[in-house]
Amino acid sequence: MPSIRISRIERRTRVEGPGLRYAIWVQGCPIKCEGCFNPHTWDMQGGEEQEIEEIARDIERTLEATPELEGVTFLGGEPFSQANELSILAAKIKELGLSLLTFSGYEYATIRSSTHPGWRRLLQATDLLIDGPYIQSQHDLSRPWIGSRNQQYRFLTKAYKHLEAELPSIPNKLEIHIHPDGTITANGMARALDLDMLHQLGYTRKEV
Ligand code: SF4
Repeated sequence: MPSIRISRIERRTRVEGPGLRYAIWVQGCPIKCEGCFNPHTWDMQGGEEQEIEEIARDIERTLEATPELEGVTFLGGEPFSQANELSILAAKIKELGLSLLTFSGYEYATIRSSTHPGWRRLLQATDLLIDGPYIQSQHDLSRPWIGSRNQQYRFLTKAYKHLEAELPSIPNKLEIHIHPDGTITANGMARALDLDMLHQLGYTRKEV
C-alpha cells in the first residue's frame, strides 16, 4: 500500500489557507532555504510513513465530524518531492468535494514545465498553489499564509479566484493548540514577538 512520509497533521486549522482546513506537513525538503521555519522537515528519512488510504479515511472522518471543513492543505517539507503519492491522495480529497491548497518551494514556472507525471497530476488537482522558496532577505508577513515577498498565489481553478482582490485584507494569524497532555503546538505565521511569547510558555518549535 503506498504511503506518504509525514511530519505532522493538524486536522482542523484556520491559519493554513482559506476557511477550516485539514493540514498535512510532509516530511523531506531538498530546497533548504536559509531561515526556513521548519528545518526539522528537511530530512527525507525523518517523520513517519502513513498509508494513503489511512490518511484519506481520517480526512473523511474529520469531514463527517466537521462538515464546515472546506479543504486540505499540503505543506512541508516539499510536497512535490512526494508528488506521486500526494496526487493519489489529492484525487481522494477531490472525491470528498474538498478544495486543495498546495505550498511549494519550487517556482511555478519550474512546476508547470515539469514532465514528471506525478508533478502534473498534483498541479492539476491543486486549486490554489503558493509557490517559491522562502527568501530571508525578502521576509514579509503582510500577506496571508506566506513568509516572503517573492512567494506568489496561483489561482489554478475558480475555487478561490474571488480571494484575489481580498488578499490584502486577510490577516496572517498564529494558531496555538494546548493539548490534554500539556504539550503546546503552534502553526501559522509567527512574528518574533509571538515566538518570544511561545518560548516563555515552554514551546520550542513552530510549524508554518
Ligand atoms: S521550501 Fe519550505 S520547507 Fe523547504 S526549506 Fe524552503 S521554506 Fe523550508
